[in-house]
Amino acid sequence: MVWPKRKLYIRTFGCQMNVADSELMAQILGEQYDLTARAEDADLFLINTCAIRRKSEEKVKSLLGSLKPLKRARPQLILGVGGCVAQQEGERLLAFAPHLNLVFGAKGIYRLPELVDRAARGERVVDVAMERDLPDLPHRTWSPGTFQTMVTIMRGCDNFCSFCVVPYVRGRETSREPGAIVDEVAAFAAAGGLEVTLLGQNVNSYGRGLPEPMTFPQLLRRLDALPGLRRLRFATSHPRDLSPELVNAFGELGSLCEHLHLPVQSGANRILQRMNRGYTREHYLEKVAALKGACPGIALSTDLIVGFPGETEADFLQTLDLMREAGFDQAFSFKYSPRPQTRAATFPDQVPEDVKAERLARLQALQDELTRKAHARLVGREQEVLVEGRSKRSPQEWCGRLRTNQVVNFIGPRELLGSLARVAITEAHPHSLKGRWVEGSSTCNRAAERPGTSPREVSCSER
Ligand code: SF4
Repeated sequence: MVWPKRKLYIRTFGCQMNVADSELMAQILGEQYDLTARAEDADLFLINTCAIRRKSEEKVKSLLGSLKPLKRARPQLILGVGGCVAQQEGERLLAFAPHLNLVFGAKGIYRLPELVDRAARGERVVDVAMERDLPDLPHRTWSPGTFQTMVTIMRGCDNFCSFCVVPYVRGRETSREPGAIVDEVAAFAAAGGLEVTLLGQNVNSYGRGLPEPMTFPQLLRRLDALPGLRRLRFATSHPRDLSPELVNAFGELGSLCEHLHLPVQSGANRILQRMNRGYTREHYLEKVAALKGACPGIALSTDLIVGFPGETEADFLQTLDLMREAGFDQAFSFKYSPRPQTRAATFPDQVPEDVKAERLARLQALQDELTRKAHARLVGREQEVLVEGRSKRSPQEWCGRLRTNQVVNFIGPRELLGSLARVAITEAHPHSLKGRWVEGSSTCNRAAERPGTSPREVSCSER
């Protein structure tokens, strides 16, 4: 007799790496658990957390509190917390939430079946060991119709930016062996996959410390040569480690999408130095110019922190000035929040909250203007769109992304899901574009090649 599998629910906070880690958790637990979209059905409820900002940590703690009634109603439910907050807090989380069964860090993911088993037998488990090696990943399989995936190529970070908690909670930089990455991506492309996003805290330094060192651009070249793969993306890049070889790859590799997320954080040299970023605004802008030279039309996005300790109005104006000069298509901007263990948290000249809020509003208004201009430049052009799912705002419309990463909504026939369609851009909106499907243009319709795929199986994320 075959017993039905138990149900697993995962709530994910934070970045793409956490989304990829949640997929890995589901895969590692796949023999015992099936994923469910309904938290109230779960036998195992995992929260994958982010500690990069204080707000994300507070959200996790508030979610834990709100789960007490569910745990009371279903005492056999196993409740676990993984990711950066788990790594940072360890045993303290068990004391904070007496209804919690399991706390596991980044490397604990690979031991989840054993940890869950111990929790099921009544033990309150903590596994936040930070080994340097990366365990072998289990062989990955993709469900029918999957046309996009994320592949983690490295973990941890050696940079110790003075505001960032990542090196303390994710450990030192470790790269996966290139052969394993190439095999994983080749299997995905052979199964009909079109787009891969490579993930790491700083992919530009990929390969350091491997027995046979390999640079990140060399890895990209090997992946670009794989048959069937149409789109290659990566995140995140440290500007200091953006080599000329990588800049040139944007002009040379057909699958490498014309979009780069290059976090600058500040436009003032004094602040960049206090952040321990290892580059100046001049170096950053030189790299932007080189990228635009190697790949005209490349779209750039960035991360910006306002109100870093000691930031003056003059420093802030330098940031606005750099944004204009770089001409970012998109920016993710945040008020500085002190994180435990980081150097910047001890700096005496913290900026008052009201000043941070006022600067953030000005910075976001400028970015809105830059984004609007970037979108307006696309109107009237025909673009390739990977059709990702139905639009959240209008289920009659498809939603997809250009190679340059902008979101576009348009009306088209049902079979477009998972295909690369040509779309003429007709309208520019603040956060997305509107387009018209160019009839008969869809290619590589991977989802349609698979039986049982419905448009509800994927949905497009619109920021
Ligand atoms: S490069 Fe800096 S900001 Fe990025 S993860 Fe490493 S320490 Fe954090």
